Amino acid sequence: MRILLVEDDRMIGAAVAQALKDAAYAVDWVRDGQTAIEAARSEAYDLTLLDLGLPTPDGTEVLRELRRMDRKLPVIIVTARDAVDDRIQGLDLGADDYIVKPFEIRELLARMRAVLRRQGSGSSAILSNGTISLDPATREAVADGGTASLTAREFALLQALMLHSGNILSRTDLERHIYGWNEEVESNAVEFLIHAIRKKLGTSSIRNVRGVGWMVDRSS
Ligand code: CA
Repeated sequence: MRILLVEDDRMIGAAVAQALKDAAYAVDWVRDGQTAIEAARSEAYDLTLLDLGLPTPDGTEVLRELRRMDRKLPVIIVTARDAVDDRIQGLDLGADDYIVKPFEIRELLARMRAVLRRQGSGSSAILSNGTISLDPATREAVADGGTASLTAREFALLQALMLHSGNILSRTDLERHIYGWNEEVESNAVEFLIHAIRKKLGTSSIRNVRGVGWMVDRSS
């Protein structure tokens, strides 16, 4: 999953970006409204964390523009404690949820999972294709009766495949879900992760479509 983090405060931005990476999200962090709008135009994000108090244009204006572009992109607005009017305006403009500064990362991650769940097809938190099930809250995968704990990047890769079960994802598709702009991608990283996941969940868990990419089966 790829997240657009819009936050002008360097300390908060750095802390949230690191926490999101640790939680298996690919993160692009921008610090002003104009860059946020440009980023949203050029990348397909799964969710945006939007600080409302931003250098021009402010978060409210960014939200208006995002909604003009793509009504489906989930947005969680981040506001100051006393900014009740901003929160109301943000929700009325189409934000999916909000969180108040200062917040605990655990709560932010739970709100993100909830918004992403509502955005997805089902209300269940567990992703399943009939042979593998994956729990975004714990990063545990169950297959063939066994349970395996996945690393952040193993989880990010498997989640991308599970969200597109029945479809082939290329190396570039998978890298988009795993790495943000500033992260260096080693050339064999995807193969390495797939090898690690197969070791934990069985060779048949991920299918290789030679020369094209990888897929997991859709539930039948
Ligand atoms: Ca701010």
